[in-house]
Amino acid sequence: MTEYRMVIGGDLVAAADGQTFEVVEPHRGTVVGTVPRGGAEDVDRAVAAAQRAFDGEWSQLSAADRGHLMFRFAEVVRAHEEELSRLESLQIGKPISGARWEVGQVAKVLEFYAGATTKIRGATIPVHRPGFDFTLREPIGVVGLIVPWNFPIMMAAWKVGPALAAGNTAILKPASYSPLTAIRLGELALEAGLPAGVLNVLTGPGPIAGGGLAAHPGVGKIAFTGETATGQEIMRTAAGTIKKVSLELGGKSPNIVFADADLEKFAATSPYSVFDNCGQDCCARSRIFVERSVHERVVELFARATEAVKVGDPSDPATEVGPLVSFRQRAKVEEYVASGLDEGAALVTGGVRPADPALAQGAYLMPAVFDRMTPDMRIAREEIFGPVVGVIPFDTEEEAMRLANASPYGLSGSIWTRDAGRAIRTAKALKSGVISVNCNNSVHVEAPFGGYRQSGIGRELGVEALDLYTEVKNVFMDIS
Ligand code: NAD
Repeated sequence: MTEYRMVIGGDLVAAADGQTFEVVEPHRGTVVGTVPRGGAEDVDRAVAAAQRAFDGEWSQLSAADRGHLMFRFAEVVRAHEEELSRLESLQIGKPISGARWEVGQVAKVLEFYAGATTKIRGATIPVHRPGFDFTLREPIGVVGLIVPWNFPIMMAAWKVGPALAAGNTAILKPASYSPLTAIRLGELALEAGLPAGVLNVLTGPGPIAGGGLAAHPGVGKIAFTGETATGQEIMRTAAGTIKKVSLELGGKSPNIVFADADLEKFAATSPYSVFDNCGQDCCARSRIFVERSVHERVVELFARATEAVKVGDPSDPATEVGPLVSFRQRAKVEEYVASGLDEGAALVTGGVRPADPALAQGAYLMPAVFDRMTPDMRIAREEIFGPVVGVIPFDTEEEAMRLANASPYGLSGSIWTRDAGRAIRTAKALKSGVISVNCNNSVHVEAPFGGYRQSGIGRELGVEALDLYTEVKNVFMDIS
């Protein structure tokens, strides 16, 4: 068991009051480390360190030099990919194959934004009166980055990359289930030569450490990924100082299958669109809408493909689905399974704990497929954040769109059809920020990612993310 430290102002530090909390892995339920339980004093310390770095060396660097440091950071992360993957897999029970994919994204994101430092530019504007008008894009200052536990290091990179590229300094606040890779990321930033205080890592309870950042007058912006209810709380807190806030929140994404689609490809690939990461994925396609003429066939193919998914020990490279992040999370998902049955949905497969005695100590649940789900059921309306999917048949394209859009969320979604006109029509009609046609891929480092409606505010990734971390200044000169 390791005693971890926060990374503040270039130092590895304990909480000011010495308090700690334990990180428990969900495969066997053992404690893997203790982490500082940061409090109000630690929030102040982190903000002061980030402000010092912003006022000092960091702001003096040219954009190109900032980019060089970020390329070096990416290189150091890449050299530690296997270590980071094992740590990620351990702390949240993510299968090692998924952890390797996730960690592999980190260096790619850092490289994309390292290259972007020299492409952040303003404009000259032909205003109405004689003179010269131009804009500058400037960093905000100290930014708070609050991330969840489902893709801990990747969510961190999505924020750290554009925040630092734009010239800000940052305080990263990881979730309490998953602080270990965030801490390592902070240490590796120092190893790569980023000046002390440019990337700080503050651990501690959400309402205290995260809430403390959201309330702090020294923090200019909060970028948050997590539950919609937490996002609302952060907006309320941030309102006190009119902070900029960007939010990546929950989802209840649709997977829409028309009768003309490649049904075999749909069935072979789509279990991963909802069961990957044990369903703890904001993009999880947890509602399947199927054209009625192929409904039974699709349910049959999908259920068989689901039963072939390998559930097991996260450290086994063949494992595709591991345990849920905690026993509490499993209990919550089991309640949803029970509510689906109570409300009359038909459980086709899964929804029970695995029979394998080797998995008895862990927070495991077999991937569940419900048929005969109706739009009013809780399992159709609420984000479950576990391995549960339900199927609803439809008769017309219009009905499919109406059902798919009947959600307060709007993060992602998939459309399966061989009709190109329909693909474009329905992609335009879906009220979601990230849409995939004939596949389920939502994440591309170079392309914007984010949600409509209650799934969020702002777009991460791509050049769009840089807008979240810059202020635009307009300058007008009288040149008469
Ligand atoms: P969460 O909202 O419980 O916690 C997220 C982070 O916020 C953690 O670091 C937590 O400590 C902190 N926090 C909690 N209360 C806080 C408060 N009052 N003030 C400030 N910070 C606070 O979410 P989670 O359970 O870690 O993650 C799961 C959720 O994240 C799901 O709803 C999922 O859909 C969402 N998510 C969204 C995206 C996206 O890009 N849209 C990506 C991944 C996860």
